[in-house]
Amino acid sequence: MPLPAIDGWFAVDDGVAHLLGTRCADCRTVHFPPQTGLCRNPRCQGEDLAETRLSRRGTVWSYTNACYPPPAPFAAAEPYTPVTLAAVELAEEGIVVLGQVKDMTVDDLRVGMELELTSGALADGPEVWMWGRP
Ligand SMILES: [Zn+2]
Repeated sequence: MPLPAIDGWFAVDDGVAHLLGTRCADCRTVHFPPQTGLCRNPRCQGEDLAETRLSRRGTVWSYTNACYPPPAPFAAAEPYTPVTLAAVELAEEGIVVLGQVKDMTVDDLRVGMELELTSGALADGPEVWMWGRP
């Protein structure tokens, strides 16, 4: 497996990608990326945050594409091909997670459609989570 672009935010086990968050033992709020210290819920004083795997499927909340290369340290492919991005809502956790979309363009996406977590390599090699067809 290629090196993860960010350590501790996702895992790929037997080819299946999972986002890693934390869940507060007191109020059950889920945090992504993983939180340490205090719960982010302003009405909660919880400090007992345990690692949890997030839902692998969600619905498209919004999407766009990046038609020009993002600035460094992002390493863009040469020649640059537009990257599709989707903000995907996870119903159980009540959060929206942004990610690159694998093998789809904005023409393939609609708000409300279901996507599934997967992973793929960035242009310079490291692996990240991505959203893809279920
Ligand atoms: Zn809490």
